Amino acid sequence: MRRAPLLLIVCAMLGAALTAQQPAAPAVTAIRAGRLLDPEAGRILQNQIILVEGTRIRDVGPAVQIPAGAQVIDLSRMTVMPGLVDSHNHLALTYKPEPESNIYYYTYVAESTALRAIQAASNGIQMLAAGFTVVRDLGNNGNYADSALRQALDQGWLPGPTLINSGIIIGGMGGQFSPTPEMARQHSIVYPEYLEADTPDEIVKAVRQNILFGAKVIKICVDCKPYGYTADEIRLFIREAAKAGMKVAGHVQTPQGAKNAIDAGIWSIEHGGALNDDLHKQMAAKGIWRAGTETPTGLEGHSVSPQAYQRTIAGLKNAYENHVQSVFSTDADYFVAGKTRGELCLEFIRPWKDAGIPNVDIVRAMTINGYKIADIDKTRGPIKAGNFADLIALPGNPLDDIDSLRNVQFVMKDGQVFKRDGVMTPAGFFHGGPVNGWRIR
Ligand SMILES: [Zn+2]
Repeated sequence: MRRAPLLLIVCAMLGAALTAQQPAAPAVTAIRAGRLLDPEAGRILQNQIILVEGTRIRDVGPAVQIPAGAQVIDLSRMTVMPGLVDSHNHLALTYKPEPESNIYYYTYVAESTALRAIQAASNGIQMLAAGFTVVRDLGNNGNYADSALRQALDQGWLPGPTLINSGIIIGGMGGQFSPTPEMARQHSIVYPEYLEADTPDEIVKAVRQNILFGAKVIKICVDCKPYGYTADEIRLFIREAAKAGMKVAGHVQTPQGAKNAIDAGIWSIEHGGALNDDLHKQMAAKGIWRAGTETPTGLEGHSVSPQAYQRTIAGLKNAYENHVQSVFSTDADYFVAGKTRGELCLEFIRPWKDAGIPNVDIVRAMTINGYKIADIDKTRGPIKAGNFADLIALPGNPLDDIDSLRNVQFVMKDGQVFKRDGVMTPAGFFHGGPVNGWRIR
């Protein structure tokens, strides 16, 4: 082997030293988008160039100059669009046919928060691979496994969707469960799945606890028990959450609970089962979000009777006709053999199709409305200069065929490619430390 001339070695060392001293300029990537879908306008623009610098979109347009040295990604045969949003999931909960017979009560008994946090990390990666770049994660995540995942994602340890997490669901005594007197006295087994707040003092304290432990939205059980919350109590939740800039999402299962939540001016109602024409009209008038969590038929182990499915479809259709602002929301917190968590969530497109909702509005429910209910639409969602670069690409056109969303081939998260040509390429997302800052909580 020939020895390199000394001068060359010195130059190389000097160059390396200089590079180490100067902060590296953010990498610039140019994406050639054959079709660019703008969900808000409901239109496709042909042959656009998206310039991404670091984590953000720098420029978009048909004649954007590609800087020398930029990496070019050719998606000229694809439809490029904002990433998808599942507005209601529980990443740290996966109940299964075995051993718990799909009864999630038993998942709490069998699995530690630590195990569930690791499952959540895997579920997050599976969601991202399917094209979901944002997930609203609304409780039932053990002892703050959701906060742990969000902090790890935000600090830069691993890939996953942007998480808007609720911490522990706050409810009246017992929460959504029916603990035995022994369990309730010891606060064991079904705790910490629910944070009990039965008085105004407890309501304030519970909201503060969740904020302290990393929640980004406050989730309450409005009417899980006959002693559900009154409109005044819900207003107290809203006031306390607002101090930290947070919104209140309410699990609702009765018309009276829905009425109380609407009267209080809650941010979102989770689950559509109790909503009717009158309540939909009130929600539309007050601009309250509907996360209906419509379950499709045909999911193995999660049968929905034809009558129940028809009610689901009719409810969704009625909400649409009343112009209630609605989001795509799955509540898909279980294992269906042969499907990733992300693939499972995409099955939930079916009720929207069956309700006869136009493709453009299904796309809006899965994108722009999801960014709005997550309260992050100022910085994420629309593909425009200044926003974070979260985008996906697929061969078909969802405005013509909504099921083309099941074939996401390309995913970019915060400006970095996570999936390309249908293959996950997550290496760049893994770090041995909190590269975005350990102070992120
Ligand atoms: Zn849920």
